[in-house]
Amino acid sequence: LKERRSVQHNLVKQAKERPDHIAVKFNESTLTFAELYEQASAVKDQLLEMELPSRIAVQPTNQLNSVIIMHAIVLAHIEMVLVNTHLTESEVKRQLDSIGVDVIITDNSYTSLSCIMPETLFKGMAERSAVTTYNPEDIMSIMFTSGTTGVQKAVPHTFLNHVASAERCKISFPFDRDSKWLLALPLYHISGLSVLVRSMMDGFTIVLFDKFDAEAINQSIAEDAITHISLVPQTLEWLLDAGLERHQLEGLLIGGAKLDDRTLEECLRRDLPVYTSFGMTETASQFITASPADMVNHPNSVGPVTDDIKVAAPLNGAGEILVRGDNVMKGYLYPEGANDTAFSGDYFMTGDVGHIKNGHLYVLDRRKDLIISGGENIYPSEIEQLILSIPDISACSVVGIPDAKWGEVPALVYESESDLDDKITKTLEEIAKYKRPVLYKRIKHLHRTSNSKVSRHRVKEWLLDEIQ
Ligand code: ATP
Ligand code: MG
Repeated sequence: LKERRSVQHNLVKQAKERPDHIAVKFNESTLTFAELYEQASAVKDQLLEMELPSRIAVQPTNQLNSVIIMHAIVLAHIEMVLVNTHLTESEVKRQLDSIGVDVIITDNSYTSLSCIMPETLFKGMAERSAVTTYNPEDIMSIMFTSGTTGVQKAVPHTFLNHVASAERCKISFPFDRDSKWLLALPLYHISGLSVLVRSMMDGFTIVLFDKFDAEAINQSIAEDAITHISLVPQTLEWLLDAGLERHQLEGLLIGGAKLDDRTLEECLRRDLPVYTSFGMTETASQFITASPADMVNHPNSVGPVTDDIKVAAPLNGAGEILVRGDNVMKGYLYPEGANDTAFSGDYFMTGDVGHIKNGHLYVLDRRKDLIISGGENIYPSEIEQLILSIPDISACSVVGIPDAKWGEVPALVYESESDLDDKITKTLEEIAKYKRPVLYKRIKHLHRTSNSKVSRHRVKEWLLDEIQ
């Protein structure tokens, strides 16, 4: 591992090297790198004048001002806590209390916190000089995991984590200074923030969307000659439904959850260069990526493993996926005790189970969601993938429920307009009996996190309540 004594804020570099290149576009408005730097510097001065604590929060919408403010916070060398814009006041308060923060830049007027309205920061000119090199170990940002499995954990990212992640990304998902990256994923998630960091590295343009309007995004892909786009499986499906075509796209980066076969096949049919990736908030975005060629030669894998990735104590070939590297966080800030089981030596334990075959990694499922039935391991996602091959099922979730004889047995909750129980029973004949869900429940809308991930943990809570 290379030792680094300082990390540059690359916005300064881009403002010097390509001042007139567009850094960010939102609707019809744009900011060049020079403008972005100038405005961020002015906002930074406002922040410094306010004598703020060393850690403050921001609730970024995906608009130009948020990008300016985020850079300003970093230029002011204040730790930036990113907060989901959809939370209620008490949820925001609880998160911020957990990491000792009471100042937030937000459009909302929360009474329990000290709020700074974004527009009040845009009044001055930059007068102070900026800090533009940082200690690699200093915290740049703090964000919360998605809460798919329960309590959201606070993850600090150092400057080094972000830079290392961007470098790691570039190797398997190439981009350069001429790229145009469409970002409709939120800036308060690592999937969004990491694009901002990559853009600073090479000076490419980001085209921002603050709502996932599939038609408008497809139009932008064509008219803005978008080359790169970050998506989660759900948003990819929406784009496909709205007629997504390749145009100038060089790469669609898919992450956050497993991409189902049906959607992948549709992408291949349309000649879309899909890259599936695997990673998490704790690793500052994806750390392994399968290229379109990998996906043909190693179907279902998430890419070729490097020395930094291994599977621990494999049982029948499968075990917990471990990863190390400069992109991996140092340790959670919250909840207490979360670090006790998070590391094994210098490896981070991802909580996901997988196996390696022919040098490629396959993700099976989350360790927490494994169903152990009569001593057999059942991976819910294997069953879910099969169920999703039924055309009218838009989403589903398999969870374990208590059983007197087997300990636990799988149960299915599916999202569909019509009753498809018979079809499901027929489809399940393809897999071993012990893996077949013992009951099915149809539901209008499955429980999801704010970034559209199905939360088995919440589905399970609901189901246990239903069948009581
Ligand atoms: P929490 O940790 O709070 O329960 P979360 O794990 O969903 O939430 P994120 O950090 O946003 O929070 O998501 C990372 C997780 O997403 C991974 O640990 C993994 O379970 C899942 N994931 C990401 N990419 C893939 C993929 N390609 N295939 C399967 N699962 C994936
Ligand atoms: Mg997680």
